[in-house]
Amino acid sequence: MKYCKKCIMPDTRPETVFDKAGVCDACRSSERKHKEIDWEEREAQLREILDRYRSDGLWYDCIIPVSGGKNSCFQAYTMKYRFGMNPLCVNAVPCEMTDIGNKNLIFLRELGFDLIQVGVNRKAFREMVRIGFFKLGDSCWPEHIGIFTIPVKMAVQFKVPLLIWGENSQFEYGGPAAARDKNTLDKNWLLEYQMYGYRISDLVHEGFDLNDLKMFQYPSDEELTRVGVTGLFLGHYIKWDNKEQAERMKSLGFNVNPDGPVECAYFDYENLDCKWIGGLHDYMKYLKYGYSRATDQLSMEVRAGRMTREQAVDLVAKYEGKIPWKYIPDFLRYLDITEKEFFGNLDRFTNKKLFLCDENGNLVKDKDGNVIKKYQDYSVEAKVC
Ligand SMILES: [Zn+2]
Repeated sequence: MKYCKKCIMPDTRPETVFDKAGVCDACRSSERKHKEIDWEEREAQLREILDRYRSDGLWYDCIIPVSGGKNSCFQAYTMKYRFGMNPLCVNAVPCEMTDIGNKNLIFLRELGFDLIQVGVNRKAFREMVRIGFFKLGDSCWPEHIGIFTIPVKMAVQFKVPLLIWGENSQFEYGGPAAARDKNTLDKNWLLEYQMYGYRISDLVHEGFDLNDLKMFQYPSDEELTRVGVTGLFLGHYIKWDNKEQAERMKSLGFNVNPDGPVECAYFDYENLDCKWIGGLHDYMKYLKYGYSRATDQLSMEVRAGRMTREQAVDLVAKYEGKIPWKYIPDFLRYLDITEKEFFGNLDRFTNKKLFLCDENGNLVKDKDGNVIKKYQDYSVEAKVC
């Protein structure tokens, strides 16, 4: 395991590519973002596209998928008040909504937006969470599919062809070159980055009735063509800055977490909407890849020039790598499983190459039950053997 020489991203992050100088592609993207890309030109391109979709005011002219997070509020706000569009906001209800998440959806409506909330039946959703947790090592698997499928279905239903997504995550956080420069989000992107090789139709073999999964089924090509659905990444056209956007939304009334950052994170304004996405989802990422949301966030701060790499290194261990206790009792009740089954599954997904094990190959844990990462020296390139 080695870390980027500019930020603190490890090379265990799936999709991330390091160049010969030992720098991750997200840092290279960031250099382009700050030095090379002509953002005025990009914004002009966006305005030209938006003009093609602009309605007469009688109906919506774009759909904003909203989680209730600061970025989706920012997307909606930007489209309406900066670009003069008439957005319809669509929220795919997450696994288990938090009070803050609910408050922020009300905040969005207070800002002047119509909102549709689609809550998939909890029976099927819960069983998908079970598959996500036990088979794929991602407690929020159905949530990711819902977020990227339900707004597209609504675009078809409401005949509003233009969807405005947030940042291109391969550009902002790392990914293959072809994906980094994409300005659109489509079905192939969803299949490649969110599905873990599973298709919804495969769930029939797990005992699901496809009738219970209607909202998870991506619209057909025929439907998409009929409405002319296009999904753009706003982050391709305007210079994306999570922190600036959060500060802007906070100044308008966006609610942050009263207890500080959610577990595994550094900022108090991210991953607030679902009980498992901040915390458990990020902790499982830590067990699989040796890094978590705090690494993403601190790396972004380094790239934005607001923090040195040394400061990020000093902070990261304080924020990530600890068992996210806050919502574990809720999660056990939700899936009706015991603490032993829960931790047994976490151990199964823990990458033993990255964490200390005893001579019998069992994970070594500290007095609080946390696993211990082997590669804590950010100054040298350690090799995973
Ligand atoms: Zn980097």
